[in-house]
Amino acid sequence: MTDDLRTLYQEVILDHNKNPRNFRAMEDADRVLEGYNPLCGDRYTLYVRVKDDVIEDVSFTGSGCAISKASASLMSSIVKKKTLKEVDQLFGRFHDLVTGNKGAVAPEELGKLAVFAGVSEFPARVKCASLAWHTLKAVLKNQETPVTTE
Ligand code: ZN
Repeated sequence: MTDDLRTLYQEVILDHNKNPRNFRAMEDADRVLEGYNPLCGDRYTLYVRVKDDVIEDVSFTGSGCAISKASASLMSSIVKKKTLKEVDQLFGRFHDLVTGNKGAVAPEELGKLAVFAGVSEFPARVKCASLAWHTLKAVLKNQETPVTTE
């Protein structure tokens, strides 16, 4: 990764941490679930509204480190209006990216999610980056028990 790219990625993460998108409680959510990463203390509540297998709206509240908050923010922007099947594929690609399974996924397929490529160099941060995604996956399966990364 070039230094320019690294700087750009850092800026995107800092921006989403400072101004998280879809950062609000959703009054008419039909599914709500809490996700917790005890390793870092990241704790979020995810709100989702699904209709005909499409994510109509998604939002979140809570607090945690910059990586976890930026990841939840980007995730919420990207999965909106996507089908559950598309979300499942995105989760798989994102997981490959942050766990360093390079070659499994072309960066251009990931769009903005590519900013988390650097996370694979910091194993302790993988849970921060994937918390929102694990929570999303669980809430879409109608899981009711809070998600924990441990
Ligand atoms: Zn964290």
